[in-house]
Amino acid sequence: MPKKPSAREQLAEYRRKRDFGKTAEPEGGRAAKTGRKKLEFVIQKHAASRLHFDLRLELGGVMKSWAVPKGPAPDPAIKRLAMQVEDHPMEYNSFEGTIPEGEYGGGTVMLWDRGWYEPEKGGGEDGVREGYGKGDLKIILHGKRMKGSWVLVRTRGWGGGGSSGKPSWLLIKHRDNHVEEGDALVERFTTSVVSKKTIEQIGGGAKRRVWHSNRSSSSAGVSGPTRTRTVAEVRAAKAKAAEAEAAAKAPKKRAKPGRQRKPE
Ligand code: MN
Repeated sequence: MPKKPSAREQLAEYRRKRDFGKTAEPEGGRAAKTGRKKLEFVIQKHAASRLHFDLRLELGGVMKSWAVPKGPAPDPAIKRLAMQVEDHPMEYNSFEGTIPEGEYGGGTVMLWDRGWYEPEKGGGEDGVREGYGKGDLKIILHGKRMKGSWVLVRTRGWGGGGSSGKPSWLLIKHRDNHVEEGDALVERFTTSVVSKKTIEQIGGGAKRRVWHSNRSSSSAGVSGPTRTRTVAEVRAAKAKAAEAEAAAKAPKKRAKPGRQRKPE
């Protein structure tokens, strides 16, 4: 058997594409916990230049990732294109916020769903690895919104999937008692599964702070660098995000209405 690559090796492309002095996204590299039985999954709604959903499944200490332009459809008659992208770090599973304009993936990221998953046929992580390797990955999702049996089917070989050199897959719902018609899921759920905020509420403050603060009318259209946050600002934002997440997890502790920021 070939040696399994380390998380750090698998994250080389992820790190190469990002400037961590500018984006608040996690650098990754946390040592994978051992002995955990449940594999994590997350779906992020990402209002980049084109709105899409990012499906991420834990495998081998990283999050295998797919951009799903139209989002998941709980209708077995609908096959959704899922373009594989670079592996993301495990820490990305708690990332919600705004990537500065001009940076890779610039735009607001919402935690749309998260939970754990398992291969339909069992076998734990090895079962996932086998299905992933064959390009026919049947999984059971245990999220707050994504439930039951789904399959990812690879449609093109490695190297044939466009500019990224990664393959295209299809995401399809399998028949079970979680089936619904059409786009029921993405239409019903439009807020963060963690912070309960909309894309506009997540992006509102950051948008003003990050990319409107230094834009004068005279520089409009000029391709110079957008003002980006300093490392200290990024750190402060990360701490604030962690705090918000902890607050969201804490039971009963609800913010007073007067303290909430009004959506623009
Ligand atoms: Mn994305």
